[in-house]
Amino acid sequence: MNKTILIEWDKKYIWHPFTQMKNWLDDEPTIFIEGRDCFLKDIDGKWYLDGVSSLWVNIHGHRRQEIDEALKSQIDKLAHSTLLGACNEPSIVLAKKIADLLTENGVPLTKIFYSDNGSTAVEIAMKIAYQYWINQGIKGKDTFVSLKEAYHGDTIGAVSVGGVELFHEVYKPLLNKSIQAPAPYCYRCELNHTYPACELGCLNEMEKIIAQNQEKVIAVIVEPLVQCAGGIIVWPEGYLKGLRELCNKYNILLIADEVATGFGRTGKMFACEHEKVSPDIICLSKGITNGYMPLAITAVNEKIFNAFIGELEEKKTFYHGHSYTGNPLACAVALANLEIFEKEKTVEKLLPKIELLKNKLLEIAQLPYVGDVRQKGMIAGVEIVKDKKNKESFPYFEQTGWKIVKSARKYGVWLRPLGDVIVIMPPLVISEENLERLLEVIKGCIIGLNY
Ligand code: PLP
Repeated sequence: MNKTILIEWDKKYIWHPFTQMKNWLDDEPTIFIEGRDCFLKDIDGKWYLDGVSSLWVNIHGHRRQEIDEALKSQIDKLAHSTLLGACNEPSIVLAKKIADLLTENGVPLTKIFYSDNGSTAVEIAMKIAYQYWINQGIKGKDTFVSLKEAYHGDTIGAVSVGGVELFHEVYKPLLNKSIQAPAPYCYRCELNHTYPACELGCLNEMEKIIAQNQEKVIAVIVEPLVQCAGGIIVWPEGYLKGLRELCNKYNILLIADEVATGFGRTGKMFACEHEKVSPDIICLSKGITNGYMPLAITAVNEKIFNAFIGELEEKKTFYHGHSYTGNPLACAVALANLEIFEKEKTVEKLLPKIELLKNKLLEIAQLPYVGDVRQKGMIAGVEIVKDKKNKESFPYFEQTGWKIVKSARKYGVWLRPLGDVIVIMPPLVISEENLERLLEVIKGCIIGLNY
C-alpha cells in the first residue's frame, strides 16, 4: 500500500502507546514491512538491526522457519477454542513443557495459568497471591511490597506495584495498597550507600518494611536481577537470595516477574537461576513466543495451587480467565520456539557474546556523558548524564536518549531508550559481528552528542 496514505491513516486513526501524540504527528513514522534474522525492513527498503528485540520479545530472529511452519500447521487444525471448560492440544503440551523447564532450571512451579500479555500475567499473580491467604482463612492481608523504579505492566493492579514516577504517579488515587522499598540501584542509591561496602543495606530497608507490615503483606513482587523498564537497573549480587530468605522468615510469598528477564536474556533460562532462588509464583511472557503471538504464563507451586482446591461451597475457586486464555496458535508457536532453544542450545551459546558486550561497555563507559553502564547477560543499559562527576541528568525536555537513538537509526540501528538510558537488548541469536556493529553505532552516536 502507498506509504503516504499509510502515514496519513496512522496519524488519523492510531493512538500509539507511551507516546505524546502531539510529537508523533510532527514526525515522520517508520513503517516496518518485513523482518529477517535480526533485521527489520522499512517501507522505503532500508534495513535496521533490531537492537531491542522488537520491545524485548524476539529471541531467535524474525521469520524463523520452524516457528512460521508451526504457526501455519496449527492454523490448518485449530486457531482458537477456549480453556474455560475445555482443553486444546498445544496448551496442554506447552504447560507440561514449561513446568518441566522451570523445574529443570531450579524453579519447581508446575501449575500453569495462561493469559496473553505481561500485565495480565502480573494481575493473575497478584490475585492468586491475595486469594491464597483468604482461602486458608487468613485475614487482613491486603498489601503488596514492591520496589521503587519497578515496572510490572500497565493494568491497574500492575501499576499499583509499579514505581516509575513518570508512568505511574498520575494513577495513584486509583491504585491498590502497596508499599515501596528502595530499589537496589547502586548508581543512584537513595540510601547513599556504596556497594559492596554497604553489605546490601537496601535489603535491611526491605526487611524493616516487611517486619513492620507482616500481618498485612500478601507478597513481595519484583523483577529479579534486572529492573528493565525502570532503566536497566541491575541488582547487586545476593539481593535476590536475601529477599527469598526474608520472605521465608516472615512467611510471605515471593512473586518473580520474569516477563522481561525470562527465556535466556540474563544468560540463564530464568534470572532466578543465577542465585538459585525459587519464587512461589513466576510471570512469563515476551520471549515465550519469539514475538509471534501474545501469550503469557503465571506459574505457581503446588502449595499455592492446593490452597484453591475445595468443595464448591467453600468458594476457593479462582474466578479469572480471558477469551484468549491458552490460545492454540500462540501455544504452538511457543513450543516451536522452545524447541529451537533446545536444538540450538541458545542459552549455552551466549557466553562469547556476553563477554563481547562486557568489553565494549567498558569502552563506552569511558565516553563523556556516560554516567554508568549496566549489564546482566544480554541485557545492557548505558545511562547518559550531563555531568559524570555529580551524576546530574540532562533536563527531561532535552530528550537526550532520543537524540542518540534517532541518530542510530540513520546508521541502520533500531533502538528505543528509557529516558536517558540507552537500552541494548538484541535477539539472543545476534552474531558477534552484528553485536559489535550495534555497539559501535551506539558509541559513535554518544560521541556525536552535540552539547
Ligand atoms: N513485567 C515486566 C517486567 C515488563 O518488563 C513488562 C513489559 O515491559 C510487563 C510486565 C508488561 O508486559 P506487557 O507489555 O506484555 O503487558
